Amino acid sequence: MAGLNGRIALVTGAGRGIGRAIAEALASAGCKVVAAARTDDELRSVVDGITLAGGEAVALQVDLSDRDQTMTLPERAAAQAGPIDVLVNNAGVGSSGDPRPFVDFRDQYWDLSLEVNLTVPYLLTKLTMPHMLEQRWGRVITVASVNGRRPALHGSAYTASKHGVIGLMRAVALEVAAQGVTVNCICPGPVKTLMNDLRIQYDADRLGRDLAEHEQELTPVGGRLVPEDIAPMAVYLASDAAQMVTGQAWNICGGLDMA
Ligand code: NAP
Repeated sequence: MAGLNGRIALVTGAGRGIGRAIAEALASAGCKVVAAARTDDELRSVVDGITLAGGEAVALQVDLSDRDQTMTLPERAAAQAGPIDVLVNNAGVGSSGDPRPFVDFRDQYWDLSLEVNLTVPYLLTKLTMPHMLEQRWGRVITVASVNGRRPALHGSAYTASKHGVIGLMRAVALEVAAQGVTVNCICPGPVKTLMNDLRIQYDADRLGRDLAEHEQELTPVGGRLVPEDIAPMAVYLASDAAQMVTGQAWNICGGLDMA
């Protein structure tokens, strides 16, 4: 893909799910990928897969709920691969980890969700932006959610963090628009991943519905998406073809949200 050969891409939450698919797709498009998450064997499997396919990738273990580890991630990535040209803020804490009605919401889960889903993208974008501005080329792609546009029931923290990150990315996009750096969000609907498996089980149980029937009716198109439905948008947004696309939040959701 034009503009991506040799670019260094940091993908958080690249061990599985949507992040893994984005890491693989960016590597196929010519990026050298730094895959970051906590689970070492998942990261190793992603790097092995990319290497076997002829691409380049390195793994960095990081716990993004630990502020000190977040702050040093860009410099660790740069030491392994070079300064970051493409930042993919994908790691996230789902609404499924501890869903509760608002009045019973656990403050600890609120703090964790806001930290990983909103503050980490803020910090990583801030830390990687100087290099992008200096070379007058950069891409920030944040995986938000349709719940950045509409609420997730019993998911106050998830909903607030995803609404917040869309606003944050638009504010940054406006500031850097004339300097060669684009900043966009992708808003997936329900995607078959570990995080969403837990969510749909919670909803099926809550509604007393058969899981398969519930899943099939999740989107107007029918059923759930797969991570590979999301990855091509990330590659497009990273490419030179998308140089005039910034400050946007792109739904990929099987028609769930048509706003
Ligand atoms: P997933 O399969 O559970 O993957 C989540 C990734 O984030 C994993 O690689 C996980 O790795 C990483 N992660 C979580 N906490 C982390 C931490 N503290 N430090 C470092 N890495 C961490 O979930 P997914 O569905 O692909 O989610 C990816 C993104 O898509 C999230 O931002 C999510 O909100 C968003 N999204 C998902 C859906 C969906 O339906 N699946 C819909 C809309 C938006 P470790 O556990 O190894 O750290």
